[in-house]
Amino acid sequence: MSKYTRGPWLPHTDGADAYVQCPDGRHFIIGDIIYHEENKANAHLIAAAPDMCEALKLVRDGFKNGADYYDGHVSSDKNCDCFFCLGADVVDNVLAKAKGI
Ligand SMILES: [Zn+2]
Repeated sequence: MSKYTRGPWLPHTDGADAYVQCPDGRHFIIGDIIYHEENKANAHLIAAAPDMCEALKLVRDGFKNGADYYDGHVSSDKNCDCFFCLGADVVDNVLAKAKGI
């Protein structure tokens, strides 16, 4: 798995294009905002990605901790369908997608 560029990432526009700016000064071009205004919102969304990954890791840990205390949880069952295990699976799937897995 490759590592992504360290955050924080900041959304940026120059009047023609939307970018994501990284701490090392590099910019990732998202697209033009002249014909595609939504690229400004896309830049904000993408810039929040590193923070969202960290937040999702906390949410996943919360689901897993919840499962440990939930009476209906079957810890030996990898296919447990309790609320906590299902929540942890959903978050794990999103994090895997973010990692390109
Ligand atoms: Zn469970």
